[in-house]
Amino acid sequence: MLVETDRKSGFCFGVQNAVEIAEKALLEGERVYSLGPIVHNDMEVRRLADLGLISIDHEMFQKLRDCKVLIRAHGEPPATYLAAQKNNITIIEATCPIVKTLQSRIRNAWTKPEEGMTQVVIFGKTGHAEVIGLLGQIENKGILVTDPADLSQIDFKKPVHLFSQTTMSVKDYSTLSENIREKYKEAGFADPDKMLKVHRTICGQVSNREPHLKEFARNHDVIIFVSGNESSNGKMLYQVCKSVNPATYFVASESDLDKKWFIGKNTVGVCGATSTPKWLIENIRDIVSNI
Ligand code: SF4
Repeated sequence: MLVETDRKSGFCFGVQNAVEIAEKALLEGERVYSLGPIVHNDMEVRRLADLGLISIDHEMFQKLRDCKVLIRAHGEPPATYLAAQKNNITIIEATCPIVKTLQSRIRNAWTKPEEGMTQVVIFGKTGHAEVIGLLGQIENKGILVTDPADLSQIDFKKPVHLFSQTTMSVKDYSTLSENIREKYKEAGFADPDKMLKVHRTICGQVSNREPHLKEFARNHDVIIFVSGNESSNGKMLYQVCKSVNPATYFVASESDLDKKWFIGKNTVGVCGATSTPKWLIENIRDIVSNI
């Protein structure tokens, strides 16, 4: 049985950058806290915990004083930076530069001259750390849209600036934009694009992987998709693989593998999300090769 890994799978640039910043800070020998797990992958979180990185939640963060806290790639709302300042906490900035740019674009859209008229709509997952950081840029006054039912929150007499969380599906974002255009037409606007500004904010590190992974999934009998269960990008890219190859299986670690999947198969592809470490993909490849 031929077992191959996908050369493009593994950490995206933003996560790689955050992990390197954490490793560098840990090498300096000081105690470093990470506000939330540094990546949605338990195996990598455990590896960094062994090096000394302490993951904390926001409740614990509020109790800390005089220490160093790393902000992970997803970013944080301004309130977190204010709390750090108040409590003499040194921030180790590891927000992905692409997320930083998105945060600033959202702030700019909100503070433009048509303030009061403009609605900022964010397509994303409820409770996702990046989304909390994005909404926080505009005092939580944005409209979060997760599915079509949420469109009822939009006032179609006013213009919309539409943004997406960086890891959403390109296809779903395009469908959502089209649904909003239709709603404007129903509200009497012949040219909806005068009311709707769609910002292309899905990260290229994610969107480029979709067509590539489809091709990879088509070219193998079985696909093993490696990702943490919490990864939003992992769930989305797993569905992309599954849509073209029904013999696609989601595994978080080697204990999820099932020998039955490989009976009578000739080729296996092992791939993963932007939050899956390459070392884990390679481990799974080696284990599957010996099944
Ligand atoms: S997916 Fe893109 S935006 Fe998100 S952390 Fe990775 S590089 Fe940054």
